[in-house]
Amino acid sequence: VVVVSTLTFRILQGSRDLAMAVIDTSQQCSYLRETLDVIGLPQTLNDRPNAKPLTVRDGTVRFENVTFGYTDDSAILHGLSIDVPAGQKVGLVGPSGAGKSSILQLIQRFYDPQSGDVLIDGQCVAAVTQDSLHEAIAVVPQEVMLFHRTVMENIRFARPGASDADVRRAAEAAGCDGFIMQLPDGYDSIVGERGTNLSGGQRQRIGIARAFLKDARLVLLDEATSALDTGSEMEVQSGLNALMTDRTVIAVAHRLSTIAAFDRVLVLEEGRVLEDGAPQDLLAQPDGLFRKLWQLQADGLIQSDVVLPDTPCP
Ligand code: ADP
Ligand code: MG
Repeated sequence: VVVVSTLTFRILQGSRDLAMAVIDTSQQCSYLRETLDVIGLPQTLNDRPNAKPLTVRDGTVRFENVTFGYTDDSAILHGLSIDVPAGQKVGLVGPSGAGKSSILQLIQRFYDPQSGDVLIDGQCVAAVTQDSLHEAIAVVPQEVMLFHRTVMENIRFARPGASDADVRRAAEAAGCDGFIMQLPDGYDSIVGERGTNLSGGQRQRIGIARAFLKDARLVLLDEATSALDTGSEMEVQSGLNALMTDRTVIAVAHRLSTIAAFDRVLVLEEGRVLEDGAPQDLLAQPDGLFRKLWQLQADGLIQSDVVLPDTPCP
């Protein structure tokens, strides 16, 4: 009996190991797939033969006469020139399809412009290594992707060598330590696909914690269009405000609370800058587009991605 049960145990043990191996492999696959999702965009551009690492100094961003289209025969941005000094917080505002997200993609060099240059601290992004470029930029995406992993691992993803203490500090700075500690297993709680569900605002704060952990000079934010409830909006906003301190920020902004926190707003339409100034100054222009957009949103007529009212013929 002992022999049989030992044998049975061995078989069970063996099949358990096999099962674990299968589970592990399938988890690796889903981890890999999720990783690809998080990275989001296909990295199709290679380093140029003599690419050098980007040297980040102050974190200035410059677009010099940039014309860009996803295909050669359709331009989305038309001769765009923007100068963002170190530490400035710039909000990109405008109707859907205006080219806001494309600007963020060009800064990360997911595409090369048809003509003109994008520069960070005077170095053309096309001439530096992709690794150094992506290390220099923290991105808070529109939709924060979570892996089926612990909260700790999900935040650490932004800087794989970070210690647990670093991760916790980043989470505290982003204002998510509180809700994480309330999860059944705290930082060891599994989230993501099939894991504990987090609200939209909580996911955003995990995204902000990742950006804190990365501690880059340059922050790109593509704000979620979906409206958050007022409580989460305030919490996300205070996390964002903390993140934006002492960094250069270029953000696609939909919420008034975010826009009001910027030094400067660029109102874009069809790949051109129509208005450029401090939000208070743009609001003071009686016939300004920004003023109209602000009014529409303040009235609750539009929640998120702004829809421009038709312009009557003169
Ligand atoms: P916004 O963020 O202001 O809504 P986008 O920069 O996303 O604008 O898009 C600008 C234009 O480029 C839109 O017409 C959009 O359909 C197009 N576009 C965006 N991404 C792609 C892509 N990957 N391939 C082809 N066209 C795209
Ligand atoms: Mg967009």
